[in-house]
Amino acid sequence: MSLPPPPLTAEARSAAGARGVAARQLRASVRAGLRDGTVRLADVLVDARRDDDRGRALARMRVVDLLASFPRIGPVRAAALMERVGIAANRRLGGLGHHQADALLEAFGEPPPSGRLVVLTGPSGVGKGTVVTHLRRMRPDLWVSVSATTRAPRSGEVDGVDYLFWPLERFAATVREGGFLEWAEFAGHRYGTPREPVAERLRSGQPVLLEIELQGARQVRAAMPEAVTVFLAPPSWADLESRLRGRGTEDDAAIGRRLARAREELSAAGEFDAVVVNDDVVRAAAELVDLL
Ligand code: ADP
Ligand code: 5GP
Repeated sequence: MSLPPPPLTAEARSAAGARGVAARQLRASVRAGLRDGTVRLADVLVDARRDDDRGRALARMRVVDLLASFPRIGPVRAAALMERVGIAANRRLGGLGHHQADALLEAFGEPPPSGRLVVLTGPSGVGKGTVVTHLRRMRPDLWVSVSATTRAPRSGEVDGVDYLFWPLERFAATVREGGFLEWAEFAGHRYGTPREPVAERLRSGQPVLLEIELQGARQVRAAMPEAVTVFLAPPSWADLESRLRGRGTEDDAAIGRRLARAREELSAAGEFDAVVVNDDVVRAAAELVDLL
């Protein structure tokens, strides 16, 4: 037999009561907004996934109540619509799958929500990884894609966090299956962006960042012209060379291959939507935040 929960203090009861009132008011204002057209269904579905008070309040809303808020759709039509797109009658927004949410949007003639895709490129050693680390602190909602690579892990790199360290056979099989959004060979190794995790985040409205080299960035730009492409440039050639050497992760031959490639990459900077100079990491990250 489970014990009853401990009684709440008077303060906790009144705080919980105030949160409940705020949540009910929020749901009522969203229903009113759907009724008069000032709130978009896509925004409500995205917000219901947020991990904050607004998200939690919306996640508790019943789908049938949400749909019945639209003019000319009463509870009966709402229930019929849900049955047609395969949503259980008692489902709440927090329990909706991505496909069910997309089906609802389609039924209402709204395009599915899409997060912004940002592609960050630039020569090896310019500081892409360092700037992205700062950017993540400034924008915790940003999802940074984890690439697959055939190169060996550097000391401290973790499989599944920094990269998916795959053997060549697995990489090649994924290329054959069309599982990469883009892939390229760089300085003797292969690197690729697994397609599905990116598509899933964009579908749910989350901003996504890819940190990839030039050929891959070109492939993404061709396939997804709506992506924002950013080139991270060094303050000077000497800075680039000293950063790459200073990192101490490659031997002389590998540094030579990366520098040779860097000359070609630098000459392509003009192809991109924006060029950000990485003179100062915090400043460069702030510029990227503006582009997001
Ligand atoms: P990339 O990911 O582009 O290959 P890294 O982020 O690994 O580059 O950075 C390469 C080296 O340059 C690292 O040692 C890093 O600490 C250093 N670095 C990055 N940004 C700056 C900067 N703005 N000023 C000075 N050094 C930097
Ligand atoms: P590194 O070996 O220094 O981690 O990466 C080498 C280069 O590969 C960097 O310019 C990096 O941005 C790029 N890169 C990392 N992941 C990918 C990817 O998925 N696709 C492409 N095209 N390049 C990648």
